[in-house]
Amino acid sequence: MEKRQFQTESKKLLDMMINSIYTHKEIFLRELISNASDAIDKRYFRSLTEPETGLNRDEYEISISADEPSRKLVISDNGCGMTREELENNLGTIAKSGSLDFKSENAAENVDIIGQFGVGFYSAFMVAGKVTVVSKVYGAEKAWKWESEGVDGYTLDECDKDGVGTEITLYIKPDSEEEDYCEFLEPYSIQRLVKKYSDYIHYPIRMDFEVNKPVEGKEGETEKVIERRTLNSITPLWKKPAAEISEEEYNNFYTSKFMDYEPPVKVMHYKQEGTVEYTAMLFIPSHAPFDYYSKSFEKGLQLYSSGVMIMDKCAEILPDYFSFVKGLIDSSDISLNISRETLQQDHQLRTIAKAVEKKIKSELAKLMETDREKYEKFFRAFGSQLKFGVYSDYGTHKELLQDLIMFMSSNDMKYTTLKEYVSRMPEEQKSIYYACGETPEKAMRLPQAEAVKAKGYELLLLTEDVDEFTLQTLMSYEDKKFVNVASDALDLASEEETKKLKDENESAKELLDFVKESAGGLHDVKYSATLGKHPAAISSEGGMTIEMARVLSKMPDADSQLSASLVLELNGEHPAVQKIKELFSSDRDRCAKYCKILANCARVSSGLEIENPEEFGELVGELMV
Ligand code: ADP
Repeated sequence: MEKRQFQTESKKLLDMMINSIYTHKEIFLRELISNASDAIDKRYFRSLTEPETGLNRDEYEISISADEPSRKLVISDNGCGMTREELENNLGTIAKSGSLDFKSENAAENVDIIGQFGVGFYSAFMVAGKVTVVSKVYGAEKAWKWESEGVDGYTLDECDKDGVGTEITLYIKPDSEEEDYCEFLEPYSIQRLVKKYSDYIHYPIRMDFEVNKPVEGKEGETEKVIERRTLNSITPLWKKPAAEISEEEYNNFYTSKFMDYEPPVKVMHYKQEGTVEYTAMLFIPSHAPFDYYSKSFEKGLQLYSSGVMIMDKCAEILPDYFSFVKGLIDSSDISLNISRETLQQDHQLRTIAKAVEKKIKSELAKLMETDREKYEKFFRAFGSQLKFGVYSDYGTHKELLQDLIMFMSSNDMKYTTLKEYVSRMPEEQKSIYYACGETPEKAMRLPQAEAVKAKGYELLLLTEDVDEFTLQTLMSYEDKKFVNVASDALDLASEEETKKLKDENESAKELLDFVKESAGGLHDVKYSATLGKHPAAISSEGGMTIEMARVLSKMPDADSQLSASLVLELNGEHPAVQKIKELFSSDRDRCAKYCKILANCARVSSGLEIENPEEFGELVGELMV
C-alpha cells in the first residue's frame, strides 16, 4: 500500500499536535464535533435545492461511541462526507483557514496558537496515535478510508460504508506517567466535554450509556440496559434566557465560536420585541484581533434565521465605528434566502442595525460608568476606532460617539472623558485646551502647554494621528470650543493684555521683520505673553495646525504644499530676546545668527524638526567659544 506524504506545513502542525504540551488537549473533541456539524450544515443547505441529497431535519445527528478495551473513540456524522480528493485535500494539507501563518517551531511558544485559532482536525493527534476517517458522499457507490499514524504520512483506500457521512475513529494513546488519556474513553467525561464546548451545536450529539434499570415487576432487581442519550441541549445558547446562562458558558461560547483566547470584556444578550423581533448575542472583545487595524479585517455579525445560520459576516448590520463587536443576530423576520444584494434594501435588517447600534452605545456608556477599569482596557484596544468614527462621514455620528471617547488628562496622566473635563473647568475658563505630541509627556512639555497649566487649567494630551481631527470635527463640547495651545486660537490673554501686545508688536515691527527674515520659513513673528520661562515657541496661524500638517503630510497622497503657517512667538521679557533686541541696534550680523538659533530652539521645543541641522550645529558651536 502506498504511503502518501503530508504537505510540509501540515507535517509541522501535526508534529506540534503529537508532541503537544498544550494542557487543553480535550478541545480535540470540540474541533471534531464542529467539523461534523459543519458537514451536516453543508448537506442540509444542499438539500434545500436538491431535496434528494438530504435527510429529514430530525434525522441528522452526530454520534459518539467509546470502547475502553480497544481504546477506540468513534465520532460519526451523517453530513456531506468527503470524496477521495476531498479527503486528500482537506486532511493531507492545511491550505485554508490561515491558521498556519505561525512562525515558531518551538512547541512551548505554539501553545497560544492552538488557543487562538482552533486547529481543527489535526488536534485529534493530541490524543490519538492513529486516526481513521471513513467517508462517503451522496451518489457514490463506495466510501474512502483515510488513515494515518502521524507524520509518516497517510494511506487512502476504497472501502464500504452504510449511508452518507463521515466516521472518524481515534485510537486513543495509552496512558502514561505524565498523561492520562482514558478520560476520553469514559462516557461521563465525554458528556462533560460535549456540554462544555459543544452544547449549542444545533444537531443532536448522541451516545449510548450503560445504565442499571429496575426490572419491571421484580422489586429490588436491576438489569443493565443501553440507553441512548442526547448530550447537548441543542437549543442554541442565545435562545436560552440570559438569567440561566453562566458567565463561563458565555465565555466558552464566545472563545470557541469567535476564535479568541481571552473572554470578552462585555456580553450583551437580549431579546427585542416589537415591529421586528430578534435575539442578539453580542460580545466586545478585550483585545484587538491581530489584523484589526488592517485591510484584511472583516467586520460583521452572524445572521441566523430561526436558528439556521444564513450569513457568517453580515457587515451591513454593524457600523464601522463598532466593527470590533462580535456576535450574532437571530430573527424569524429575516427571510432564509436573503442575499448580499438585497441586504441593503432590507427594511427589517436596517431596523435591526439601528437598534443594535443604539444598544452597543448604551452598553458601552454603562460599562464606562460601572467598571472604569474594563472600559479603559476596551478603550486602549478600540478607542482609535471610536475616535475615527467621530471624524468619518463628516461628523455624522459625533453626537453618538462623543461621550465614549477619552483622552489623557494633564491632571493625572489618566484617561478623561470630555464630560469629566468640562465638569472640572473653572468658571472663567473659556475653552477646552489640548496639546499634541508623540507621548503625553512630550505634549505636556510644549511651552504653550506649560502656560495653560500655569493658569491652573487642565489640558487634553493628544498622541494619536486621529486625535486632533476628532476634536476638530466635534468643534466644541457643551459650547466650549476646542483650542490647540500651539495655535493662534489660544485665548489666554485678557483683552487688556491683548491690546498691549498688539501695540508692542506694532512698535517693534522693524525688529520682528528682521527676525522673520533672518530665521526663514516663518509666516510671522510676534511677541507673546504666555511663554513663561521659555524664550520662544512656534505656533500656527489659520485652520491648519502644526499637528494636522504633520499627520496629513504622512498620507501616501499628500500634497507637498501642505504645511502650517508657522508663527514664532517671542517672550519679550526673556534675556535671550532682549539680547536680540540689543544686537539689532549694535551688530546686525550677529543678531541674524541669534535669530536663527532662537527660532530653531523654538522649533525643537514645539516638537518640530530643525530644517538645517548642519548650519544650526555650526552656529551653536560658534556661540560656545
Ligand atoms: P477547518 O475546519 O478549520 O477548515 P479542519 O482541519 O478541521 O480545518 O478540516 C479541514 C476540512 O476537512 C474542513 O474544512 C472540511 O472541509 C473537511 N472536514 C473535516 N471534517 C469533516 C467531516 N466530518 N465531514 C466532512 N468534511 C470534513
